[in-house]
Amino acid sequence: MTATGTPPRVSAQEARDVAEAARETEWTSPSFVAELFNGRLLMDLVHPYPAPAPADEAAAQPFLAALERLLHEKLDADKVDRTGKVPPDLVQGLKDIGAFGIKIAKEYGGLGLSQLSYVRAIGMVSSLCGGTTALLSAHQSIGVPGPLKHFGTPEQKQRYLPRLAKGAISAFALTEPNVGSDPAAIETRAERSPEGDAWILNGEKLWCTNGTIAELLVVMARTPDKVVKGKARKQITAFIVETSWPGVEVVHRCDFMGLKGAEIGVLRFTNVRVPRENLLWQEGKGLKLALITLNTGRLSLPMSAAASAKRCLEIVRHWANTRVQWGAPVGKHDAVAQLIGQMAANTFALEAVAELVSMLADKGHYDIRLEAAIAKMWNAERAWQLIDDTVQIKGGRGYETVASLTARGERPDPVERIMRDFRINLIFEGSGEIMHLFIAREAVDRHLTVAGDLIDPRTSAGKKVAALFRAAAFYAAWYPSRYFGWSGWPRYAEFAKLAPHVRFIERTSRKLARTTFHAMVRFGPKLEKRQSVLFRLVDVGAELFAMSAACSRAEALRKQGKPEAVELADLFCRYARGRVRDVFRTVFANDDVRTYRLAQDVLQGRHAWLEGGLVVPK
Ligand SMILES: Cc1cc2nc3c(=O)[nH]c(=O)nc-3n(C[C@H](O)[C@H](O)[C@H](O)COP(=O)(O)OP(=O)(O)OC[C@H]3O[C@@H](n4cnc5c(N)ncnc54)[C@H](O)[C@@H]3O)c2cc1C
Repeated sequence: MTATGTPPRVSAQEARDVAEAARETEWTSPSFVAELFNGRLLMDLVHPYPAPAPADEAAAQPFLAALERLLHEKLDADKVDRTGKVPPDLVQGLKDIGAFGIKIAKEYGGLGLSQLSYVRAIGMVSSLCGGTTALLSAHQSIGVPGPLKHFGTPEQKQRYLPRLAKGAISAFALTEPNVGSDPAAIETRAERSPEGDAWILNGEKLWCTNGTIAELLVVMARTPDKVVKGKARKQITAFIVETSWPGVEVVHRCDFMGLKGAEIGVLRFTNVRVPRENLLWQEGKGLKLALITLNTGRLSLPMSAAASAKRCLEIVRHWANTRVQWGAPVGKHDAVAQLIGQMAANTFALEAVAELVSMLADKGHYDIRLEAAIAKMWNAERAWQLIDDTVQIKGGRGYETVASLTARGERPDPVERIMRDFRINLIFEGSGEIMHLFIAREAVDRHLTVAGDLIDPRTSAGKKVAALFRAAAFYAAWYPSRYFGWSGWPRYAEFAKLAPHVRFIERTSRKLARTTFHAMVRFGPKLEKRQSVLFRLVDVGAELFAMSAACSRAEALRKQGKPEAVELADLFCRYARGRVRDVFRTVFANDDVRTYRLAQDVLQGRHAWLEGGLVVPK
């Protein structure tokens, strides 16, 4: 039973089993972050900082220039925010320049550009308007083109990619009223038609971005269970659905704190006949497809975060130079200057992370699932802090709408709108909590492979003994190698001023691996429930990855004649090291248990008296 007395629709074990079944279990390509959690710094995977492919840059240049012109001419972001509509002539203009098919191969009528060029385009749009970003990004990051490119048959690609490249808007429909972070509870169902040539789709999808205007959807639905080892196993399957088909209905357009121009809706499917050939990949692979799609799909958000940060920096630079209080520009007062310095350093790192992961994705022979998850989680968190600081530095004007500022004849900096538009980035495409859990699961994967049977209460005594021998042999070599290592001078000397930071990353990755192991020994199977402990370890890994990206990028820029980049990376690393040290201090010495208990007391109503004196709306 839940606290409200309603039984959970899916047990915790069932939810975990479904998520485990959808996990990508193989690590066939190198992963910088997986090795970082394993205590090995493989700097050559991210250094030298990858360079964009010259052919791709040349091909992208006219498109990005056309996009910039179009945005200048046709996008009034505040009007989009006020009216809730991205203007039709802008949408048409975007279609005309190929902005709906940026990554779709030329043979299907797309621009055939790289992930990096795609996120650069998204960054340009994000620097102006969250609603327009949602339109392009929901279509290309998670909508039909991504999964179709990876998992579609040649016939499916031939049928749909040319339409999508021309601007048939698409959307991704996973969430339902009872399905948020945990997809195991999916209730939308697809049953085989009696003739066997189609699937009959019934159900309702919530918060489908582009859903109210889309022509094409990728829909995740439950299909009949399969029996595996005598047990029924839930199957989730993905389908391409055309919204013009009978039985597809937009029931509601949702309205949110921000992203006012985004077309986000509730969609209902009533006996929708989906032809058999519209099943994507394989029956039962829908959740895995959604997760793999999100691996690269969630890379637009980190660049949006970097673009928002740059916009804030530009706003603050102007404001803090011109606003005079107490006899000096506010940027000269130490408290404000401290924030500005950190903003600049963080903006540099945000862009380094977003660019680096996209370039690694373009290289194709890296496993970037952890890097992408960190980029999404860390960039969203850091940029949110940066936006909050921007509001603070702008004072009352940071809280005032553009319409009101304009009416008073002031510079219409859209800080209030940026904040409203940005907040959702910590929730969708994998909430911060779910990203932490995802990264933590992969971070402990090596230990689970070696010693998982030891801590799994469902494992037999015989298997436990075998696991004990296996673990003893593995850790006898592994553990000392994570203690002893040379991270002093002259290692990483090529990073010059930044070398001490890279050495810090190296020795801290070993400490991270050891601490993760200690946590497993200390908590055993209960570690899964100690989310705060796991989250701290993940936060350390994220900081180390951001430091690596920042150092690598700064070094590349220094060589290109921009030595000032080193100052940004240096300051960023100093702050990141402080955060890492703070986190380590509280991994085991904390008030987690006490806090958890108090939270449960709150949920049971023991402190309901605290809510006294309120006027609660009837
Ligand atoms: C504007 C907007 C656009 C969206 N667009 C789309 C879209 O295009 N397609 C689509 O399918 N979905 C979309 N979504 C849905 C979005 O992905 C979900 O909101 C997100 O997955 C979180 O689900 P939820 O809101 O139901 O939160 P819940 O799952 O109910 O979670 C509530 C809180 O609990 C936390 N939580 C949940 N489980 C755990 C756990 N095990 N451990 C720790 N913490 C936990 C969550 O992180 C969150 O903080 C959109 C949502 C919004 C608001």
